[in-house]
Amino acid sequence: KTGTLTRGRPSVTDVLPAGVDRLTLLGVAAGVEKNSQHPLAEAIVQEAKASGAVIQEAADFNTIAGKGVLARVLGEEVLVGNRTLLRERGVPLGDSTEDALARLEEDGKTAVLVSAGGALAGVIAIADTVKESTPAAIAALREMGMKVVMITGDNSRTAASIARLVGIDRVIAEVLPGDKAEEVKRLQDAGEVVAFVGDGINDAPALARADVGIAIGSGTDVAMESGEIVLIRDDLLDAAAAIQLARKVMSRIRQNIFWAFAYNAALIPLAAGLLYP
Ligand code: ADP
Ligand code: MG
Repeated sequence: KTGTLTRGRPSVTDVLPAGVDRLTLLGVAAGVEKNSQHPLAEAIVQEAKASGAVIQEAADFNTIAGKGVLARVLGEEVLVGNRTLLRERGVPLGDSTEDALARLEEDGKTAVLVSAGGALAGVIAIADTVKESTPAAIAALREMGMKVVMITGDNSRTAASIARLVGIDRVIAEVLPGDKAEEVKRLQDAGEVVAFVGDGINDAPALARADVGIAIGSGTDVAMESGEIVLIRDDLLDAAAAIQLARKVMSRIRQNIFWAFAYNAALIPLAAGLLYP
């Protein structure tokens, strides 16, 4: 998933206010996001602080998994999240907004939409950089004969852009947190043996469902509990190394069993007195 391919330190790249000024947009969005633990939330709060925006107080904070967050700020309901969140709550997005979102997403950025009182207040774009070792890790997995698939809650265009950067050609995007395990099952039903690499709370069911769950050590505790393999470092190359190690151990076990049986097959008749007469 995206978070295992990138550094995990996203930062704000563009702020596009709509009908309010930049600092107001950041202050209101950060007021809601300061209650969230999501990496996108941290990036927005960071940017608000760095720009000197007044971070507003928020009440009735709520998280909608895989979609975003909302709260009451300055007496109005403020939504901060993706298209689905705003669409579900009846906030209209014009064609020009859709165009702006598409442009940001083609660049691999995540566009976070902000609305207040039912109207769009702006878009905050956030980007993370790919970990240096990720393309090499994907290439190594391929060389070992594996198919690499990216499963993510992120927007399809953003996901496709990151996948292109790291050399992954199959992407299953916009998967809600609860549906990741279902996607793993679908691959298994198609006859695949699945190893799932994940780090988040949302990944625990998929880690448990996969034939092998590989949890990243810097991730959440529940991910580490659910994985069969826990990587100590935060590096996808170690996932490839873990699989190589497992294959080597299995081939050693097979060799040892072969020689143990061969030896016994040859010598038990001798021990039983074959040459005695
Ligand atoms: P995943 O487990 O796939 O990483 P996420 O928790 O990142 O799932 O949610 C998927 C999408 O939901 C994000 O890409 C983002 O658009 C939106 N989202 C989730 N939480 C927030 C938040 N706190 N602020 C803004 N957007 C959010
Ligand atoms: Mg995410």
